[in-house]
Amino acid sequence: MTRQFNVPGIYSPTQYATTTQKPVVDQDTCTGCQKCISLCPEQAIEMKDNKAFILSKKCTNCRICIPACPFSAIQ
Ligand code: SF4
Ligand code: SF4
Repeated sequence: MTRQFNVPGIYSPTQYATTTQKPVVDQDTCTGCQKCISLCPEQAIEMKDNKAFILSKKCTNCRICIPACPFSAIQ
């Protein structure tokens, strides 16, 4: 069965599994809690000026960090 996910802003692993665009952190929304850093299996997220920043070259696009952010700052 094919499922459709058309609601903007709602995370869906099925929807994102098909994209090659790596996640980015909304710098205005990020609180600097560092939860994403502790969960990223590739150590691809660093802190800059108390905000998370994804290193595109290290990121493997696993997308674990997107639902992990308690403030929905990663899209
Ligand atoms: S989990 Fe979200 S709010 Fe916390 S540092 Fe990462 S991007 Fe920022
Ligand atoms: S998508 Fe995966 S590898 Fe990339 S920053 Fe998020 S948790 Fe790390």
